[in-house]
Amino acid sequence: RERKRKEGVNLLELAASFFRERLKMPEGEGARQYLERRGLSPDVQQIFGIGYAPDDWEALKRHLTERGISDAVQVEYGLLVHREESGRTYDRFRDRVMFPIRDVKGRTIAFGGRVLGDAKPKYLNSPETPVFHKGRELYGLYEARQADHRLERVVIVEGYTDVVALAQFGIRNAVATLGTSTSEEHLTRLFRMVSEVVFCFDGDRAGRQAATRALETVLPLMIDGRQVRFLFLPEGEDPDTLVRREGAEAFQDRITCANPLSEFLFDQAAAGRDLARIEDRERYASQVLAALARLPEGVLKSLLLSELSRRTGVEASNFSALLARAKATAV
Ligand code: ATP
Ligand code: MN
Ligand code: MN
Ligand code: MN
Repeated sequence: RERKRKEGVNLLELAASFFRERLKMPEGEGARQYLERRGLSPDVQQIFGIGYAPDDWEALKRHLTERGISDAVQVEYGLLVHREESGRTYDRFRDRVMFPIRDVKGRTIAFGGRVLGDAKPKYLNSPETPVFHKGRELYGLYEARQADHRLERVVIVEGYTDVVALAQFGIRNAVATLGTSTSEEHLTRLFRMVSEVVFCFDGDRAGRQAATRALETVLPLMIDGRQVRFLFLPEGEDPDTLVRREGAEAFQDRITCANPLSEFLFDQAAAGRDLARIEDRERYASQVLAALARLPEGVLKSLLLSELSRRTGVEASNFSALLARAKATAV
């Protein structure tokens, strides 16, 4: 199995250098212009190993076949697509800017490819393969650790270009999930390396919905000593557009001042409610208690409980009994 893994990684590394080479060649002109238009410097392209998949059905296939790699293996690692009806195989990535996805040791395990124009789908990712499980990998984590070996904080953003744009502006600790929501596995892995996670969401409806899911996911992982913050960008902005508009320092300030989990939790429960009214206060308290029921025992939980008590004027001991019941029914 280890041999097999090695074979896959070698193959993906060959593909990554093929894409990088093609970006430099005449056929990469359009992609180079695209990257320049988006303001991504050659330096940052190099850090992230960005490349170009040519507009050709078999360019990568020929390259790998000449090196003795079978079609079957190329299909297995997601580089070729196998068409059932005809039995033919062809390059999965064509005429796209290629972002290699690396594991924590820096080995290429998959790719994300972006179209140069407005064609659909905008991004195409490698499928699940023996080395790539998209629900666990984070784009940019290797590069963030390279930039700072004692990384303390990471910022989770939505897209590849957000990670790369922030890096270009000197904010080297951003990572992105790969078109999925942040999973418990992502967070567990991150908290093995850092003590603080900042979720950063696009200023759109999808971004706000993602925040609610992220809160749900992270609650059970909030053991004391871990810090979580929520950063909401202005309407219509993502980290890429915003850091270009307002610069690195202002963006860094947003990260530093992002809403702590405690505040986000209370804000969310209060949204759309009039806390002068008893019924609204009841729902407010119930929502906060439901969240608290999912938190591990610890100082944070106790503090949130007394804060809830302060905000509602109900003695904390009353809530403790409710909380014990909520917890018993939750599982
Ligand atoms: P860009 O700035 O290049 O237009 P983005 O990163 O801002 O892209 P969003 O539309 O905000 O793109 O999407 C965020 C992330 O979701 C992408 O980076 C990508 O990982 C994923 N994604 C978006 N569209 C698709 C798609 N059609 N298929 C698969 N993944 C996608
Ligand atoms: Mn978005
Ligand atoms: Mn975006
Ligand atoms: Mn974008």
